[in-house]
Amino acid sequence: MKEITTIKEVKQWLKPYLKKNLRIGFVPTMGALHEGHLRLVRQSTAENNITVCSVFVNPIQFNNQEDLSKYPRNLSQDANLLRKSGCDMMFCPGLEEMYPGGRIDNVELEFGLLDKIMEGKFRPGHFRGVVIVVNKLFNIISPTNAYFGKKDYQQLMVINRMKEALGLAVNIIACETVRENDGLAMSSRNLRLTIGERQVARKIFEVLYKVREKGTKTPVWELREWAIKKIQEDSRFRVEYFEIADRETLMPIESWGQKTQAIALAAVYLGDVRLIDNVELFS
Ligand code: AMP
Repeated sequence: MKEITTIKEVKQWLKPYLKKNLRIGFVPTMGALHEGHLRLVRQSTAENNITVCSVFVNPIQFNNQEDLSKYPRNLSQDANLLRKSGCDMMFCPGLEEMYPGGRIDNVELEFGLLDKIMEGKFRPGHFRGVVIVVNKLFNIISPTNAYFGKKDYQQLMVINRMKEALGLAVNIIACETVRENDGLAMSSRNLRLTIGERQVARKIFEVLYKVREKGTKTPVWELREWAIKKIQEDSRFRVEYFEIADRETLMPIESWGQKTQAIALAAVYLGDVRLIDNVELFS
């Protein structure tokens, strides 16, 4: 596996593959890789001639300095895991390479409410940072297919809209959330949980699944209130949001009506670690 840190070298390395019109699969990540990331990489290697994975902790998508400084980083372990998963190239640029002289080339796109609710509301500027970095990475790599996890469902919807708005040729491939044995969605942030917190963290997933089970038998507002209360029974949890929304637009729904494509999404603090998860309803 080739390890590259500069944009120039990435372009040079990719040139022969692009010339031959080979399929390039791309998996953007912030590192501290786990099975969730590696599943995306393996899907890419199965569906493309070449797989590129980027590892870059993108400061402009963090709205909280402490979250950024505590974000786990382990580049040499990431390289080993990627090599074993069949990745062909790891792109791990420094800050100066991505934002020379600290300049951030803004991509002003209008997403309506999509990037202003839930994650957008509680992490102001987050999606702006995601759109800028992913667009830049797409320009550098020119992927045929790019792989994103449903774990970050709202991000996936924002990326789909960005592709549409900019008329990008890349195919956005959505991949199922990979979970630990007890149901907790895998996340780099799980490393920051204490042993005690890790033991109870599955509660978020359990409540989301219970919501799916209860389904349309219970009014939306009642289900939402029940879920928040259930999670917060243990005082170590604090629910930031719990929404039941349309799966495409992510607009919260008030009543079941004719909806057949809903999703429940949550952001929950466990101690000082912020975890997000979601489950699709009626699938
Ligand atoms: P991150 O490094 O957190 O920015 O994640 C990089 C990519 O991996 C994103 O598309 C995430 O949605 C995806 N991802 C992270 N955790 C999981 C998981 N548990 N299951 C599936 N995909 C995931």
